[in-house]
Amino acid sequence: MSYLKDGNLEQFSSIEHGFGTASSLWPEDIILMSQKHTNHVIIIEDGNGAYIPVADALLTSIPAKRLGVKTADCLPILLYNPRVKVAGAIHAGWRGLANAIILNTIDKLRTFYNASPENTYFSIGPGICKNCYEVGTEVIDRINSVIEVNGAFRQTAQHAGMLDTRAIAERQILSAGVPQSNISHVNFCTRCSPGFHSHRAGSKERQVSFIGIR
Ligand SMILES: [Zn+2]
Repeated sequence: MSYLKDGNLEQFSSIEHGFGTASSLWPEDIILMSQKHTNHVIIIEDGNGAYIPVADALLTSIPAKRLGVKTADCLPILLYNPRVKVAGAIHAGWRGLANAIILNTIDKLRTFYNASPENTYFSIGPGICKNCYEVGTEVIDRINSVIEVNGAFRQTAQHAGMLDTRAIAERQILSAGVPQSNISHVNFCTRCSPGFHSHRAGSKERQVSFIGIR
């Protein structure tokens, strides 16, 4: 199985994780969501959870539950809080960012698990890069309602430009009180780096990233 690893999460022996590529086999016993670019966060704290309804983030403190996120240009974001031993997986494209899925997940961490952003670690995985992701300016208005896009958008036409979703995701995580030193990137572009499924490049398939508590 070929998964990309991030040292920011590898430092914790209590978890396992991986960012999928086009050649990664899907992990066994993985819990996947019906992803719809929402702000819905599902907390998995019982023995079931094989079927997850519409959601774009999962959180658990139960060992041996592998939380999965499918992507093909959107960002897979994995997180871990070693104090309360909670792991999470987030699906974040521009719609998810505009719907505040990251902020809602951090809010659920705080309210349900009493987990502080200051000691939660985030890894932002492979997604489409700022040189490959053209969007209409209406997208910018939507994202601006949650957080200022500012330098993360480069206008190239009257009603379009290039969007840096990675920068916006990081800014949202920082805005919730997570220290910069707790955030890292597995910085591949799913469109212009080889070996990934890319929706914009015409792929109908998805790669799967996962995190689980051992
Ligand atoms: Zn690219």
